[in-house]
Amino acid sequence: TIVTPAVHARGLTAGYGGTPAIHELDLEVSSGEIAVLLGANGSGKTTTLLALAGELRPMAGTADVLGCSARTRLDRRARSGLGFLTEGRCVFMELTGWENLKLGRGSAADAVAHFPELEPHLHKKAGLLSGGQQQMLALGRILAAEPRLILADELSLGLAPLIVQRLLTALRGAADRGAAVVLVEQHIRHALAVADKGYVLRRGRIALTGTAEELNADADAIARHYISGE
Ligand code: ATP
Repeated sequence: TIVTPAVHARGLTAGYGGTPAIHELDLEVSSGEIAVLLGANGSGKTTTLLALAGELRPMAGTADVLGCSARTRLDRRARSGLGFLTEGRCVFMELTGWENLKLGRGSAADAVAHFPELEPHLHKKAGLLSGGQQQMLALGRILAAEPRLILADELSLGLAPLIVQRLLTALRGAADRGAAVVLVEQHIRHALAVADKGYVLRRGRIALTGTAEELNADADAIARHYISGE
């Protein structure tokens, strides 16, 4: 049997108002795999996730995601098993933790099972939780739905390294249970420690790709040339 990868993009070009921000990307992510997107600010990482989520239409090329072509809208993709953690804290600050979890597609109990340390805080409004707790709430809600593909945009932004590791380990667990994951991450070492492969973007193009092991061996050079610079 032929196993179709969860993400299969060929020559994917997308952008805003007719101007491409990503150019001719070839990406492939299979079930059980974590791919990390690395690159400087403005290199096109978020745009890539939006194109994979179906929020931006390809201007050229193809993006097959979970068996949906690029023309399928995000709500249909969600039903077919997409979990999208967008940049920023994806929680409703005025609702309690429990209420936030109940809005998910999975059960609140399953969400708590992923992050048991949240339980004592779930009666509080999400706005009163720490940044790390908010992000666990958002990720727990997504993981409880058992998505087949998770897109996560800088989920660790501004969080302490220990929390970053906790969140990335949870994503690794989801991949080990069969999800495909595409991760945008600034913490290059932490990300490569859980990822299987990576793509380094520069000005909207793939400048470098390799296994996590290969990229990790060059992590300092990658950080210097492609991430901190430009
Ligand atoms: P960051 O780390 O800053 O989020 P990024 O790698 O995710 O960076 P993108 O957000 O994908 O980069 O941006 C890629 C390019 O597209 C940039 O030149 C940016 O200015 C442009 N861009 C992003 N969002 C929009 C938008 N809504 N309208 C027009 N141009 C945009």
